[in-house]
Amino acid sequence: MSAEFDIAVFEGDGIGPEIMAPTIEILEQLQFKNKNYKLNFKTAPAGAKHYQQTSESLPQQSLKIAEESDAILLSAMGLPGVRYPDGTEISPQIELRKAFHLFAGVRPVTVRDSKYCPIHRPNGETIDFVLIRESTEGLFHSMGKGVVTKDQATETLLITRDVSEQLFDFAFKLAEQRKATGIGPGKVTCVDKANVFRAFAFFREIFDERAKNYPTIEADHAYVDAIALWMVQRPWSFDVMVTENMFGDILSDLGAGLMGGLGVAPSADIGMDQAVFQPCHGSAPDIAGKGIANPFAMILSAGMMLDWLGHQHKNKNMITDAIKLKDAVNSVLADGNNVTGDIGGVASTNEAAQAVMKCLKE
Ligand code: NAD
Repeated sequence: MSAEFDIAVFEGDGIGPEIMAPTIEILEQLQFKNKNYKLNFKTAPAGAKHYQQTSESLPQQSLKIAEESDAILLSAMGLPGVRYPDGTEISPQIELRKAFHLFAGVRPVTVRDSKYCPIHRPNGETIDFVLIRESTEGLFHSMGKGVVTKDQATETLLITRDVSEQLFDFAFKLAEQRKATGIGPGKVTCVDKANVFRAFAFFREIFDERAKNYPTIEADHAYVDAIALWMVQRPWSFDVMVTENMFGDILSDLGAGLMGGLGVAPSADIGMDQAVFQPCHGSAPDIAGKGIANPFAMILSAGMMLDWLGHQHKNKNMITDAIKLKDAVNSVLADGNNVTGDIGGVASTNEAAQAVMKCLKE
């Protein structure tokens, strides 16, 4: 008998629906072939367009669908021209992180093919690291609470012991897993600004405390400004990096740049028992409706979802399918004939997704 999983689908704004549709088609093809598991997709309306139509950005009913699901698949939400009365943008994706306590923003940075990487690797070094961005507090804790007067604006950063401990444990366990499977050397780098801010000295202190529980993993520190430099100069020297929300927000786009762009950068926001899988990019309103959006970041995020569900529910078939999906995208990238304009090709969203589908059939 096959295991069944409910997947909440937030197709979102802009290019969101355009990249979500082929991703679901691919997942349906995989599960049809495998027959060992079944995914039931449940659409959850939310986002900027929904807000324009209904004055609600994240309806209770959609939150309920997400709550009752086994995992959440999300494309991108928000449109620059659609804002709350306080001037901030509609961002249900951030509300979901808070609602389900999804503290670990996992951003894998893997250079799949040299032709898409802007960095020269003198000895063909492998770039394969994971940036973990704390996703519920840090400077984003201030979202909606900033105080603005005529003459000044203040936003306050929050770092708590509980969340930091969970975050660092997640990072060290991931480094252990990567070391055990031969992917990484077993190193976690705490990225902070502990030389200037007390909050980051506190963050680093907790990191050092938790590190003691993982004696086989090297615990390293670096300031965020230096990391920005080293991610360009020697990105192959990292394994797992862990950082505050705002720093992670910025560095993850730099990581996406190393891979060739936002169109190939997947991500996951993971909590203790729920997770959201979504590309690193936004709703790309500048190209929405043209059929040219790169679907790979969305497809790779769906692969991360299969892998996470597979590990959570000890379903080896799902883990195998996650690998197959990643390999299929890699092979389309290596071939280069069916890639979209953002990474130098001429393919449409549909042609790129169909190429992945074809690889999976072979
Ligand atoms: P963006 O990521 O949407 O776009 C930045 C640039 O990258 C644009 O030129 C866009 O065309 C390109 N791009 C992004 N994804 C692409 C893809 N799959 N294929 C090809 N090109 C792609 O960032 P932005 O323009 O700063 O933000 C647009 C909207 O998205 C804003 O409303 C923002 O708040 C929202 N946003 C949402 C999320 C999310 O849902 N997680 C994340 C970031 C931004």
